[in-house]
Amino acid sequence: MKYDYDLFVIGAGSGGVRASRMASSFGAKVAVCEDLYMGGTCVNVGCVPKKLYVYASEYSRHFNESKGFGWSTGEIAFDWATLRDNKIEEITRLNGIYDGILSNAKVEVLKGRGRIVDAHTVEIDGKKYTTERILLAVGGWPFIPDFNGREHVVNSNEIFDLETFPQRLVVVGGGYIAVEFSGIFNGLGSEVTQLYRGEMFLRGFDDEVRHFAAQEIAKKGVNLRFNTEVTSIEKQADKSLKVNLSDGSSIIADAVLYATGRKPQLDDLGMENVNIRLSDNGYIKVNDHFQTSEPSIYALGDVTGGMELTPVALEEGMTLARALYNNQSWKIDYSNIATTVFCQPNIGTVGMTEEQARADYSNVVKYRSSFRAMKHTISGSDERTLMKLLVDADTDKILGVHMVGPDAGEIMQGIAIAIKAGATKADFDATIGIHPTAAEEFVTMREPATD
Ligand code: NDP
Repeated sequence: MKYDYDLFVIGAGSGGVRASRMASSFGAKVAVCEDLYMGGTCVNVGCVPKKLYVYASEYSRHFNESKGFGWSTGEIAFDWATLRDNKIEEITRLNGIYDGILSNAKVEVLKGRGRIVDAHTVEIDGKKYTTERILLAVGGWPFIPDFNGREHVVNSNEIFDLETFPQRLVVVGGGYIAVEFSGIFNGLGSEVTQLYRGEMFLRGFDDEVRHFAAQEIAKKGVNLRFNTEVTSIEKQADKSLKVNLSDGSSIIADAVLYATGRKPQLDDLGMENVNIRLSDNGYIKVNDHFQTSEPSIYALGDVTGGMELTPVALEEGMTLARALYNNQSWKIDYSNIATTVFCQPNIGTVGMTEEQARADYSNVVKYRSSFRAMKHTISGSDERTLMKLLVDADTDKILGVHMVGPDAGEIMQGIAIAIKAGATKADFDATIGIHPTAAEEFVTMREPATD
């Protein structure tokens, strides 16, 4: 064999692990290296611990709402250290499972930072490995802009493991991460202020959904302040943080979370040793075979700047392995990928926003339902749910489905299959509902919205 390996993967996150073990299952000789944690962002500082914390945060509401159903709960207390340490234990278990998956798949796991030496060589701690192909699945890292006092803030990796629970938390940003953590800490009992620089957070989501979600989130107690930027942060004598704002006011907090986006993780990777072109915003450019401008080097997942979602990286890793080592197609259909923001209540969405639909189609009909879920008739909660269908009246095809409400993520996964299969409004109408559920509303919307 000319090289030590057929495929050398840098980064054992969602995309890297999936590509490695699939390639190996097709007979390729594969190594994967990782310098931080097995499973990457999703398992360690993303989807998995985030969802555990979301579950934790929802209990406070359940305790409160249970009173209307006859329960009395006594004194309620939350212990941050218990949650954090149970989370750490679970993630450690998952790290081990990832190690096991790879070794069972006969992938060689190398611990350490992989650096590209040339188009067919990777070095880890001074030891060189040759390979026919290299796959960069190095993911991203939280980005924090420069400003006075930047050293006092935490990023979305660090927030999970805070030593002490922040009674007062400021969250900066208006994307998925900021919105989800505002909800988590609000539910856990912090006083949360979320600052966003623009008019309305969750840019890119359906406008009506953004406004509805903002209302619901504010009703739950998050102090939302839009059109507001941080000018500086000062540490005070009592260790609290004074967050100075663009409107001249300030907020005192115990911690400040910056969730202002993520950047590709390319430092110290040996990129200078090869000819890999980057996009203007620093992501690795690839063709539709995940090939970089250096033909033996491939890249996929967050580092390529597509939809930064675990299932997308998994699909890409699987496709690459199948295409390179099992002669299967390179084709991935990126249309109609459903997604959820795990705030309270969830935002679930698949397909086009109303704004996109109206820009691309001349005859869009909107169906909308907004209601108080049955549970809240006696729970005492004033939470409302929004559901929305966008239909191309010329073909009757559903263009977009949106929901703000409990379990929207779970519901939207099922709806996404229908949309992927090309469902029409007539198909939704012909579907008999499951009663009583909130989801049945999607198959009983008869009258178009007039606005
Ligand atoms: P996003 O890119 O979604 O959001 C970044 C936010 O920070 C935006 O509101 C942006 O504002 C704001 N921002 C950027 N730069 C600055 C700045 N200099 N000062 C103030 N505000 C700033 O990033 P996230 O970090 O929230 O998430 C990264 C990605 O991870 C997501 O896009 C998503 O793909 C994925 N993710 C998915 C989750 C899920 O599926 N549930 C959960 C968490 C993450 P503006 O809009 O004005 O640009």
